[in-house]
Parts: sequence; C-alpha cells; structure tokens
Amino acid sequence: MNVDLKSKFTGALIGSAVGDALGAPVEGYNMERVSSVYSDGKGWEMIYGRYTDDTETMIGVAESLIENKGFNGSDMALKFIRNYDARRGYGPGSKEALRRISEGESWEEASKKLFGGKGSYGNGAAMRIAPVGILYYDNADVLREIAYKSSHITHSHELGKEGAALQAFSIALAVRGQKEGMLLGLKEFVKNEVYKEKIRKIEMLLDKEANKKEIISELGNGEVAFNSVPTAIYSFLRFDNFKDCVVYAVSLGGDTDTIGAMAGAISGAYYGEGAIPEEWVEKLEEGEKGKSYIRWLGEELYRVKFG
Ligand SMILES: [Mg+2]
Repeated sequence: MNVDLKSKFTGALIGSAVGDALGAPVEGYNMERVSSVYSDGKGWEMIYGRYTDDTETMIGVAESLIENKGFNGSDMALKFIRNYDARRGYGPGSKEALRRISEGESWEEASKKLFGGKGSYGNGAAMRIAPVGILYYDNADVLREIAYKSSHITHSHELGKEGAALQAFSIALAVRGQKEGMLLGLKEFVKNEVYKEKIRKIEMLLDKEANKKEIISELGNGEVAFNSVPTAIYSFLRFDNFKDCVVYAVSLGGDTDTIGAMAGAISGAYYGEGAIPEEWVEKLEEGEKGKSYIRWLGEELYRVKFG
C-alpha cells in the first residue's frame, strides 16, 4: 500500500476528530443503546459532527509541538488552558490538573496530586496523543519520552503514560505502514505487564473472531487507559478500512468518543486522509478550530518533520 506521508499525518488528526465526533452522541451508552441510536433510519451517519475534549486537547498538543518544534511542557499546558471549553466534556482529572496549573502550579507537579497522590490512569492522555505519534513515528525512544511527558501534564500515573505511549506507537507503526507486524512491534515496545497481557489478548481475540461481548469483557470499553487503548488497537487490526474500524470501535459502547478517536487516529495514519468517508468529514464541525484548522495542523507537523 502506498499512501503519501502527508496524508497520513493529516489522516491521523482528522481521523481522530471524526472518531471522536461519531462517538460523542452515544458516550456512556451500552452496546445495545448505541446500536439503537445509529440504526435509527440513517445508519452510521454523523449526527452532530461536534468534537469533544479529546480533539480539543489533541489540537493543543499539535499547536505546542509545532510552535516549539518539539516538546515544551509549560507551553503545552498553556495551550490546553487557552483552548479549554467546558462544554467539550472534560474528565475530572484533566479539569483539576489544568485548574492547578492555571493557578500557578508547575506542569510537573500539578497532576501528581490527583487521585490521592497516585495520579490519573484514565485515557485522557492517550486520546490526544496523535500529534506525538506522527511527529516521532520514526523514533520509538523519542516517541516514548514525549508521550510520557505530554501525558504527565494531566495523567501522571505510570499506566496512564504507558497507555498514551502505546497509542502513540500504534499510530507510528500505522504511519510506517506496519499493520501485519503491529502486534509484534507493540509487544517489543510496551514495558508494563498490564499492557503486555492486553496485547496477548488482542492476538488471541483476532485469531478466533471474537464477538463484541467478549471484546468488551477482555479488552474493555471504559475510561481507564488499559481498558480502552487496546480496544482501539484491536478495532484497527480487525478491519481493512477506516469506516468499519471506527464504526466497530464506537459500536462497543462505553467511552465511545475516546475509543472512536483512538481507533480513528491509528486508522487515519495507516490509510491516509483520503480513506476517511467524505460524508463524515463534511459533517465534522468547522469554525475557528474546526476541520480545516485540524488538517492544517497535520500539514504543519509534516513541515516541522520534513521542512
Ligand atoms: Mg471526550
């Protein structure tokens, strides 16, 4: 497969936003309820096209990486704070970390105090990681370092950071066109046993064409990083096109916007922007930081990378 790199960069970001917007209207619904919404006459048509905190924070990650030509923690935190729109549905951890930073605490310290000093292992860092996955797609060590650091702004628990790194590296392998070898690559990359076990499960579930109930119970569909990042990776590996992958990810219910966003990011990075259904992109919101801006961020990241 020969997809040009620039369309992989823009595809990862637009794909993530499209998955987020497709999942947003059914966030928190169970599998049956999701299917009742999306089978209601029109099938998998984009309903509102409005993205959530997943995309808003992804935009902040991209803006900061572009402006600084790399990672700058206090600037990235500032971008999150400037873009913050409460109507996008932020999780309590991110909200609290950003509040602390906006009141003067350093980005290194703020997130450590959350959840009784343990830090968050929600999927809030993984859902916004696409810009890191594409910009550092050719260097696993740098990718891991920047994934951890960018996570740390809001999610300082080891499992939250590792989830973000795993999602970023999945996107990186997708940019490289490595779908067949993805699980092998991820196995070698991932450090934490919780995620190693999940990758073994993905392999087992792909081999037996498991049903959705099994996927939900074995991989998860929740807001915790290790119960959603593996689910997005599975959704990508199971199908051979963008649409089926993202529809499947959202159809599982639960944290649908985030699992949709993460599956859409990997898928968009693999197939390129041209493979994203036009009718979904058409319905995706425009405006100051809408789809044109998101595409532009992808192009700018490409420019930062290749000049
Ligand atoms: Mg969201």
